[in-house]
Amino acid sequence: MDPAFDCQRCGACCASFRVSFYWTEAQGEHDPRSLGVPAALTEPVSPHLLCMQGTHARQPHCAALQGRVGESVGCTIYAQRPSPCREVMPGDAQCLKARARHGLPT
Ligand code: SF4
Ligand code: SF4
Repeated sequence: MDPAFDCQRCGACCASFRVSFYWTEAQGEHDPRSLGVPAALTEPVSPHLLCMQGTHARQPHCAALQGRVGESVGCTIYAQRPSPCREVMPGDAQCLKARARHGLPT
C-alpha cells in the first residue's frame, strides 16, 4: 500500500463527513456490554438515525478519533466502529475527498 494512505497516519475520513448509521448499530441501554457502537459517543440525527458524536458539524471530527489528523491517529472504538467506517477504503473516492479536504496528498 502507498505509505501516503497509511490510515494510522491519516484519519482524514474521521474528520470530514457526518458518520451516520441506523440506531440498531449502537449499544442498547438494556445491554451496554454488547459490541455495538458505544451509545455515549453517538448523537441523534433523526428518529431512526444516529451519528458519531462530533461528525454532525460544519467541521466534523469524530469523538472517537484520537491523535492529530495527518500525523498519528487511532480509533478508540475500532472493534465497535459503525458500518460507514468499515466501508471507506484507502484510496477510494471518499478517502481521496477526505484527504484533499485536509490538504493531504492524494
Ligand atoms: S482518508 Fe483514507 S487513508 Fe485516511 S484514514 Fe481514511 S481511509 Fe485511511
Ligand atoms: S468511529 Fe472510529 S473509524 Fe469511525 S469515524 Fe470515528 S474515529 Fe473514525
